[in-house]
Amino acid sequence: DDRIINSSYKKEDENELDLRPKTLGEYIGQKKVVNQLDIFIKAAKSRSESLDHVLLYGPPGLGKTTLSHIIANEMNSNIKITSGPAIERAGDLAALLTNLQQGDVLFIDEIHRVNRSVEEVLYPAMEDYCIDIIIGKGPSARSIRLDIPKFTLIGATTRSGMLTSPLRDRFGVILNLELYDTEDLLKIILRSANILNIPIKKDAGIEIAKRSRGTPRIANRLLKRVRDYAQVLGDGVITTKIADEALHMLGIDSLGLDTMDTRILKAMIQNFDGGPVGIDTISASVGEDKETIEDVCEPFLIQNGFLIRTPRGRMVSDKVYEHFKISKRGK
Ligand code: ADP
Repeated sequence: DDRIINSSYKKEDENELDLRPKTLGEYIGQKKVVNQLDIFIKAAKSRSESLDHVLLYGPPGLGKTTLSHIIANEMNSNIKITSGPAIERAGDLAALLTNLQQGDVLFIDEIHRVNRSVEEVLYPAMEDYCIDIIIGKGPSARSIRLDIPKFTLIGATTRSGMLTSPLRDRFGVILNLELYDTEDLLKIILRSANILNIPIKKDAGIEIAKRSRGTPRIANRLLKRVRDYAQVLGDGVITTKIADEALHMLGIDSLGLDTMDTRILKAMIQNFDGGPVGIDTISASVGEDKETIEDVCEPFLIQNGFLIRTPRGRMVSDKVYEHFKISKRGK
């Protein structure tokens, strides 16, 4: 999937570690989340305890992994990183847990994708800091309880509703990351431009910010692609004109809609009279999986009033008809 705006692709973030803020103070936006974490971290530290387990949820690219690194850093502890699909068997998780040190942070990305048997190991680990191990086979098999160090589990997921309730209930802190506004995205873009030594005009930064779907990962990615454009077709400085041309070339329109958004909205108008239409039907008609549409495309489309969720399905708003200059049937 080479969709430029697909915020779930993470490889590129690996060599941009220096773009990740390292302290809560450096973390831009998400004030509600930051304020809460600041209090909980200070309280845990003053009691010399490990931080309670934290669940972070929100669309991809909003800073969940970054926050987990920050939490570990602020707690002066180590972080171990894994993901739901990577932990295949209960034994894999048991191995991870028994290797932790007191106070360590274990970050599990896409925690909604851990399977049942792994999830069952998590329950006593989170609640009582122990795991049950079965020794032997058949009638002589017995279970022994093993203590593990007091650690902090940080789980990340796109929607909190994707977790089973026994798992969700075991998190003491549940935080929702929201899409960023233009002002915060501009700060992120200017900060990244400064770190990467990219000359950029403030107005051009605003233009990129407005078209980043509320997502820092996308803002950083667009910044880099616009820089490429500025270097080859301009004099290296990102001006509004350069930003606008580059974003247009990348298939991102004036409202920040990318080619996938456009395909979804147009398919809904052309094939279903603008809805209401079910998510499965939309998914089949554009050939993109349902989860990606729900987690990556929809939050932006709904928040910005392009798409409306009704009990009978999704509907395209009047704004979309105006934007694409399509007249509504029967009007
Ligand atoms: P997630 O884990 O939610 O998918 P990440 O934590 O990997 O998102 O963030 C994606 C990128 O966006 C990171 O490389 C980071 O540099 C940047 N980023 C995210 N949140 C912020 C923020 N609040 N301030 C500055 N940069 C951010």
